Amino acid sequence: MQLLTVGSVAFDAIETPFGKSDKIVGGAGTYISLAASFFNRNQALVSVVGEDFPSDVLDAMVNRGIDIRGIQIPEGGKTFFWAGKYHNDMNSRDTLVTELNVLGTFDPVVPMEYRNAPFLMLGNLSPDVQRKVVEQMAVRPKLIAMDTMNFWMDIALDELHKTLKLVDLLIVNDEEARQLTGEYALKTAAKRIMDLGPRLVIIKKGEHGALLFSADEVFYAPALPLEEVFDPTGAGDTFAGGLMGYLSIQEELSFDSMKKAVIVGSALASFCVEKFGTQRLEELTKNELDDRIKAFYSLSQFELV
Ligand code: AMP
Repeated sequence: MQLLTVGSVAFDAIETPFGKSDKIVGGAGTYISLAASFFNRNQALVSVVGEDFPSDVLDAMVNRGIDIRGIQIPEGGKTFFWAGKYHNDMNSRDTLVTELNVLGTFDPVVPMEYRNAPFLMLGNLSPDVQRKVVEQMAVRPKLIAMDTMNFWMDIALDELHKTLKLVDLLIVNDEEARQLTGEYALKTAAKRIMDLGPRLVIIKKGEHGALLFSADEVFYAPALPLEEVFDPTGAGDTFAGGLMGYLSIQEELSFDSMKKAVIVGSALASFCVEKFGTQRLEELTKNELDDRIKAFYSLSQFELV
């Protein structure tokens, strides 16, 4: 089953209490596709990079089964650059630099071969760009998931509302859910989000796990207590990529398969934070991932009687 993702492919510079990276490859689309590749090797990424972007990174994507024909490389363009600095608790960060470069004029084009894809992941980008991708689909996908952030709520709320009407699943963090709805209680916030369009909502709570809501069910996935947290960049995107990669190879989209997908996404995200950038995900084996999924299971399993 094909999975199509739209998301940034970027250069990042990251500073955490444990160190500082040079310009490394990042971007929401990069993390999403990389995470999804643990399950689905029939996926495509729609994005844009500059001529300064290393071709071996694109080759590595292809080797992981990611179709890159939807990644535009405009002549003379420069790749999107983002720099961020984490505070001591690693739960919050400041954006130091955002240079949109080629992302500023990005007009996404979905390759013909992927216009029937049953799974669509809209990475955090302008809601306008996200909508343009949905509108190019020849058939309405079985599942459209979407990420967004406070920034778009501040500057493009009307556009965001239009895009929300088109999607099945919104994945946001607790702060974003509260800002979008004006509700503090997350259960109420999830209901308000459902009034805006999505029938499913995932609210991430960083190192405290994630909540999955449907109209009448709730599921809580803890985050695994880790010995090492080095760089949280991309954890949210890795979560979304793992979740969509897993769902895209399931027979049916039940609430039970959604629950497992949330655990799989959480397990992948727990690896992402162990090293700078995409490094840990690149080294990760399927066996390590399977063991960690089991660790999630034993973390919260108990007998009622
Ligand atoms: P996360 O830590 O999951 O919020 O995602 C971090 C990634 O998002 C980084 O690799 C950045 O390159 C990318 N990013 C940051 N700001 C933006 C933006 N305004 N648009 C698209 N991607 C962004």
